[in-house]
Order: sequence, then structure tokens, then C-alpha cells
Amino acid sequence: MKILVVNCGSSSLKYQLIDAETEKALAVGICERIGIDGRLVHTPAGGEKIRMEADMKDHKAAIKYVLDALTSSEYGVIKHLDEIGAVGHRVVHGGEKFASSTIITEEVIAGIEECSDLAPLHNPANLIGIRACQHLMPGVPMVAVFDTAFHQTMPQKAYLYGLPYEYYENYKIRRYGFHGTSHSFVAKRAVQLLGIDSNNSKVIVCHLGNGSSVSAVLNGKSIDTSMGLTPLEGLIMGTRSGSIDPAIIEYLMKKEGMDIDQVMDVLNKKSGVLGLSGISSDFRDLEDATAEGNEKAIMAVDVFNYHVAKTIGSYVAAMNGVDAIVFTAGLGENDKAVRKGTMSYLGYLGVEINEENNNTRGKEVELSTPDSKVKVYIIPTNEELAIARETVALLA
Ligand code: AMP
Repeated sequence: MKILVVNCGSSSLKYQLIDAETEKALAVGICERIGIDGRLVHTPAGGEKIRMEADMKDHKAAIKYVLDALTSSEYGVIKHLDEIGAVGHRVVHGGEKFASSTIITEEVIAGIEECSDLAPLHNPANLIGIRACQHLMPGVPMVAVFDTAFHQTMPQKAYLYGLPYEYYENYKIRRYGFHGTSHSFVAKRAVQLLGIDSNNSKVIVCHLGNGSSVSAVLNGKSIDTSMGLTPLEGLIMGTRSGSIDPAIIEYLMKKEGMDIDQVMDVLNKKSGVLGLSGISSDFRDLEDATAEGNEKAIMAVDVFNYHVAKTIGSYVAAMNGVDAIVFTAGLGENDKAVRKGTMSYLGYLGVEINEENNNTRGKEVELSTPDSKVKVYIIPTNEELAIARETVALLA
């Protein structure tokens, strides 16, 4: 069966067509500038990247271009749309309603809508993608895979904030966590590599990218994670502040004469390593600046690494130990300086690193030496494949 995986944002739509038997992507692509003008970049496996300007007035038009590209006689990868057995949709927020992936029905759509308050930028866009696919592929089963679902196993002590309990009861204000599909995928693979029983395993996953989060996975279940009600909490990120003293918000409003929207804009888009360095949110730029001796770049990366290491330490405490620490996502898979910097704090755990293996980019590798008390791995994440697997499992 071939599975179309769709990840719909407010003005973009990423897709992959995955062969469920071989688990290979037959085509990958992205529609950008939806609602503005429109551009499609489509790459059939082993083929040339096709770029085209396209008239995408809305997401339905974008999906139409995707389906045309997939079935094109020139650069398509299937002959007929009926070869697509199902569609897996990434949905950002499932609240407390969705603790696992689910086949999309009208009731599920209403549930996703109910969670829109918790992710006002993302869930409505995800729903538009679902509706557009339903319209263009009537009768094809669709599955929603939630970024939050994997973390629904967190115990109350991990997900409650120290706020009046009625805010949790009335508004469901609590830690949800994100990147769940990635944390789950990578943690499962780590247990395979460790060769131990999943029911007796302790894994810490560091998903480090433009958005970053760490999770503690005990016996195959997430028991804590660094992002919270929203993806703003936790680690310092590319442009997000991560956790700060909440009183800073009022202080900034007074000092800078900002309103709450302006402060939130600073915390989401102008902070993190971008705000600290004044250079870039992209660690490749920070690496270049570091090589030139730029002190702010060095400081920003140092602050980032320190926060990752502190979070790892807290999860070792939460699980009373750790079998493996895993690095994944853009930075985790590619940035040897971030990995080295983070692991430099972990000697107390008996972590020993093979420097040569740390030179690896984007490939699965064991970073720890045979003598290391804790295994450390790079495991490339593959959220699209994870969504395709979930989709197939639900339709079986
Ligand atoms: P993601 O959000 O997972 O796509 O990760 C994006 C971030 O990963 C970028 O902002 C870069 O800072 C980082 N990144 C990606 N590729 C590399 C690379 N080859 N070397 C260093 N950092 C990289």
C-alpha cells in the first residue's frame, strides 16, 4: 500500500508518498506561499528536483498540484490516484482527547477543532489539509497522527504546573509536549539498538532542531518532556526563548512599553540563539561565526548546550538512571559541536565518547565507546515514516 503523508502549515504543505512495504519515500515535496502565489518543489525518488510556480489560492489548490505531480507522466511516481491507499495527516495538538493516532471521522475532526485553542496557528491549518484531501480523495481512509499523543502517558506530577488547579480543570492548562512522533520513533529504535527489553528501558531523546525538546522515555513510555502547553517552553531554541522567569514578561512590558502580543513575538521569534547571538537562528551560521572567534556566537551555543545538558540531568533523576541518550533532528544529527558541548557535561554519568564517530552527519551511529556506562547514539528521525507506519497499523 502507498501512503500519502501530509504536514499542513498555515501557508505551506509538506508531503511524502511512502511505499508501506519497502518503507521508502517514492516522492517528497513541499508547497509554499499558499494563499499568496504558490510554489511547488517536487522530487521523485532518484529523480531531479522539479520546481514550479503554481497558482495556489488555497490548500485545496495546493493538494491538487501535489496529486497532479504524483501522477504526472513526466515526473510522477504513480499512474492513478487509486494507488494511494490512505493519507496520514500530522496534527499538532491533540490535547487530552487524543492519546494515540486515530482514523479521521467527523467526530475526530470536531475533536481536533476543540483543541484549536491550544494551537491556534497549527490545528486550523491541519484541518484545512484534512478537508482538502477528503474533498479531492473521497473514500480514501485518513488518519490523524498527533505531535502531543506520545506524551499523554506522562504522570500528573510531570504534567501539572504549580498554578491554581482550577486552571487545569477549566482550561486544561498543563504540559502536553511536542515532537511526540519523533521522540517515539527514535526511542523505539534506541531500544532495538540496545538489545534490551522495552519494558525495562530508560532512554533520553534530544530532538534538537530549530525547535528543540528533550524527553524521558521509561519502559517505552514518555514520562516527561521539556515543551509544555505550547512549544515555547523548555530549551533555548533557534528563535524561541524556552523557559524564562514569567515575571520577565511584565517587566519587559513596563520597560519597553510593549503590549502582550509584542512580548510574545519577542519570545517566539526574536529570542533563543538568534536573540543571544544577534547573528542567526541557524547553527551553521553560528558555527561559521564561532570559527571567526565571534564571542556572542560562542556564548549562544554555550548557553544552548548547557540547557540541553541540564535537562538531560533532570531526566536521569526522573528515571533514576539512563540506558541511552539519543541525538536526533537537524542539529542532533548534524552538529558535532553541539553534541560534543552537551556531552562534555555528562562525564559524571560515565559517558565516554568516540570522537571519530562524533564527526558523523545524518547517519545512525553509536557515539559512545564500548566502555561508556551509558550508550549514546545519533538516530536520524523520520516523522513521515512514523506517520505512515501509524496509518498502516490503524488500517490493518
Ligand atoms: P530542523 O528544525 O530539525 O530541520 O533543524 C534545523 C536546524 O538544524 C538548522 O537551523 C540548523 O541550525 C541545524 N542544521 C541542519 N543541518 C546542519 C548541519 N549540516 N550542520 C549544523 N547544523 C545543521
